[in-house]
Amino acid sequence: MEQRLDYYCLVGFAPETTSPEDLGLLAIPADDTALFLDFDGTLVDIAPTPDSIRVGSPEKSLLDELHRRHNGAVAIVSGRNLIDLDQYLGGFCGTISGGHGAEMRHASQLLSGVSCDLARLEHIKNAVMEFAIIDPRVLAEDKRYGIVLHYRQHPELECKVRDFLKSLIDGDEEFELQSAKMAIEVKPKGISKAGAIERIMQFEEFDGRDILFAGDDATDESAFSWVNEQGGISIKIGEGPTRAQYRTQSPDSFKSWLKAQSGTARS
Ligand SMILES: [Mg+2]
Repeated sequence: MEQRLDYYCLVGFAPETTSPEDLGLLAIPADDTALFLDFDGTLVDIAPTPDSIRVGSPEKSLLDELHRRHNGAVAIVSGRNLIDLDQYLGGFCGTISGGHGAEMRHASQLLSGVSCDLARLEHIKNAVMEFAIIDPRVLAEDKRYGIVLHYRQHPELECKVRDFLKSLIDGDEEFELQSAKMAIEVKPKGISKAGAIERIMQFEEFDGRDILFAGDDATDESAFSWVNEQGGISIKIGEGPTRAQYRTQSPDSFKSWLKAQSGTARS
C-alpha cells in the first residue's frame, strides 16, 4: 500500500488554509464527549442587531435532549452576557459561560467572575457610548465585563471603529480588543473561551471526556487551537479560514447534525 506523507504532520502544525473535513463524516459517542457550544452564529442565525435573534422551542428542546444524552456534559460558551443567554435559553439546566468566560453558572450556582478595574471599565464604556451617539451608524452593546461596537449596517466603518477603540485602550494593562463578525469588543485581558472550557472540564460531569467545541467566529479560533492541542474536536460553522478540524455550512446544518447524533432527527 502506498504510504502518504503529510507535510503538516511532519512539521507539527496546520496552516489556516488547511481545509476542514465535512462535519457529516464525524460521529461522536455521547458517553465520552463533552459538548461546548457557542451561541450566536452556531445555534442561532446572526441577526442585524444582537437583540433581534430568534430562538425557538426547537433549539431549547435540542439542548435539553443533548443534556440528557451527554449526562449533563453540555455547556454554552458565548461572548454574550449570562443574563442574555438565560433570557434566550430559559430553562436550560446545563452549564453556561458568558462574556467569553468572564461569567459562569454551573449546577444552578453563579461562579465568581473575572476581576478587573470596574472604574476603568466604566470610563471605557462611557467613551464608547458617546462614540455611538455621535455616529449613530454604529451600535454600542453594553456588556457586564466589556462593551462592543457593532458596524454590521455599515461595514465601511471598520477602520474608524478599530482606530477609535485602539486609541481608547492604547497601553492599557487590563483591557484588550477582540474582533468579531462586524463588531469589535473591549474586554478584560486574560479571559477566553478556551479558559472557560478548561475550567468547565474540571466539573464532575465533564471530567475525563473528550472535548468538542463548535463556533463560527474569529473569537472562536483561539479556542479551536486550544481544543486541537487537547486532542479534542473543533467545528467551524460557516465560511472563512479556520483552524477547526470540521466545518458545516450553517446553524441549521449544525443542529441537524447534532439531532442526528442524539437520535432525535426528524424526517
Ligand atoms: Mg458566535
